[in-house]
Amino acid sequence: MSNPLLDTSSLPRFAELLPEQVVPALSELIAAHRQKLEALLDNTPEPDFDSLVAPLEEMEHELSRVWSPVSHLQGVLGSREWRDAYNAALPLLTEHGTDLSQNLRLQQAYTAVDQRLPEDVSPARKRVVEYALRDFRLAGVGLPDADKARFKAIMQQLAATQAAFEHNIQDAQDAWSLHIDDQGALAGLPQQAVVRAAAEARKRDRQGWLLTLDYPTYDMVMRHADKQGLREAFYRAWVTRASDQGENPDWDNSENIREILSLRHEASGLVGFGNYAEYSLATKMAGSTDAVISFLHELASRTRTAAEKELLELSEFSGIALAPWDCSYWLEKLKQKKHSISNEALRQYFPVDTVISGLFEIAERLYGVKLEAQDGVATWHEDVRYYSLQDENSALLGGFYTDLFARSGKRNGAWVDECVVRKNLNGRPTLPVGYLVCNFTPPDSSADRRSLLTHEDVVTLFHEFGHMLHHLLTRIDYPSIAGINGVPWDAVELPSQFMENFAWNFEVLQRCSAHTESGEPLPRQLFDRLDDSRHAGAAMAMMRQLEFALFDFRLHAECAPSGWPAALETLRAVREEIALIPHPDYNRLPHAFSHIFAGGYAAGYYSYKWAEVLAADAFGAFEEAGIFDRDTAQRFRTEILEVGGSCDIMRAYVAFRGREPEIDALLRQSGIESG
Ligand SMILES: [Zn+2]
Repeated sequence: MSNPLLDTSSLPRFAELLPEQVVPALSELIAAHRQKLEALLDNTPEPDFDSLVAPLEEMEHELSRVWSPVSHLQGVLGSREWRDAYNAALPLLTEHGTDLSQNLRLQQAYTAVDQRLPEDVSPARKRVVEYALRDFRLAGVGLPDADKARFKAIMQQLAATQAAFEHNIQDAQDAWSLHIDDQGALAGLPQQAVVRAAAEARKRDRQGWLLTLDYPTYDMVMRHADKQGLREAFYRAWVTRASDQGENPDWDNSENIREILSLRHEASGLVGFGNYAEYSLATKMAGSTDAVISFLHELASRTRTAAEKELLELSEFSGIALAPWDCSYWLEKLKQKKHSISNEALRQYFPVDTVISGLFEIAERLYGVKLEAQDGVATWHEDVRYYSLQDENSALLGGFYTDLFARSGKRNGAWVDECVVRKNLNGRPTLPVGYLVCNFTPPDSSADRRSLLTHEDVVTLFHEFGHMLHHLLTRIDYPSIAGINGVPWDAVELPSQFMENFAWNFEVLQRCSAHTESGEPLPRQLFDRLDDSRHAGAAMAMMRQLEFALFDFRLHAECAPSGWPAALETLRAVREEIALIPHPDYNRLPHAFSHIFAGGYAAGYYSYKWAEVLAADAFGAFEEAGIFDRDTAQRFRTEILEVGGSCDIMRAYVAFRGREPEIDALLRQSGIESG
């Protein structure tokens, strides 16, 4: 095969992939799929699952396998060429997707398959067909031609605008830096950060220190910089990224926000929903917009008192009227004083390799699986590693790449994405492969030091690894509902948030730690202090997340048609209700809120809290039985991790837990006493 992107026989040939291959590969593949589909519809007068659905699942699988490295590389490399290639190919992909879900003949064929499903059909097959029929409906398959065409055009426009939204953030962030001549201005920052800032200045042929706006640096400044002015400068740069308050109007996302909201609203109206929030809930676990709003309000009202108490304590401790750029700093100081715990001291215990081997050991202990590093796998960067996952009988289950360190051009945050989805169609099995991406502080190459993680980084790594297990341990044969696919968005964070709990266990952390100098694991006494500090600021953090969730949901439920000014108004109203500290007028949270404007969390940010309840309650089962209890772990694996989107998630949850989840589990876990 001449175009390496189209070679799906094994792992992506990363070393050979080039941006100029993207559009030709996608065009060729989509054209071939269109032909195949026509032939299939012409030649299958009495379609059933094997003759119609399986080949379609096969095509969907192939397309996502070809697209996956493209979408991945534009996120982690951030080169202009990859981004352009991605932007050029995105419309082809979106158009094809909408064409498929608006194809009336195809929908009729699925309806025929549905009517012909045997009595004893497996729940998975039934679910594949049910979801397909639902998605036809959600794409307006039955609409008049003009409306169908409009829906399709909206999807195209949305995909492009959402990508532009994300790219504006990246550009704004990469362009900003702060040059510092006087080391005194850096007071309080950990040595590692100072060394990095000096190296950054040298890289750009400058004296002194240069601070960039990547997340690790921002976070470090907010927590540790003694100079309030430095924290405020960073805060301002961070909350005005890609906005009308930012430094470069070219990257202002205001117009993108207006457009995204109005397109979403119009699309949901076309297919029969009152607003985009309702449309979003059609594929989620929470039943109605009221259910979501009252869930968020209940959590807020049960958390408020605890949050106000925390804020009062923090204000008294700091002795100043706290501004938004003071909270992390003083919280860090309070933690040091109250619990004698500091992120930076803990860092010395968590070299990244030690954490990873400890994490793997836990997965082995819980699920009997084996994880091993594999050499010789082609990657996109020297930091990248590849690991394989085997079951108890040494049968290969899948594999994944890790790309853990922040670098310029790489998208912020931490995430897991699919490289290959598991399938087993008509006797041709393929194992799942994923990407696990983080933005940890990179190793300091000048001093040949290892990358050291904070405990929060450790929690993040556990979280993402939980997603990865969900992706890799699936036993479902049909890609549209295998692993993370087909799982309602508000339940997707269950396996990941569940896994975070293990990063708060002494035995686990001992296995994940080795002091850089002594090699000693985390001592009990230090763990106890860390554990005591777990809930420091928890109620305030909960309120902050509820502010995001309520803003997102109300935005999509209420003010989509009138767009941007209304969005700011909604934000103001939500903050009045939820926020504990007033935000400055220049704060433009929405402009860099890529979860909801560029990612999949639109009218779905509440999912984090929703799934947190599930995760806290699920972990409760482990606490009751012993956190390494094999039976409980086995039940979690078979009922939750293996089933993908093949069954009703509440039924699956009850099968695991013996009852429905309880909101109190989350409050208890967060150390919030509520009325
Ligand atoms: Zn997650």
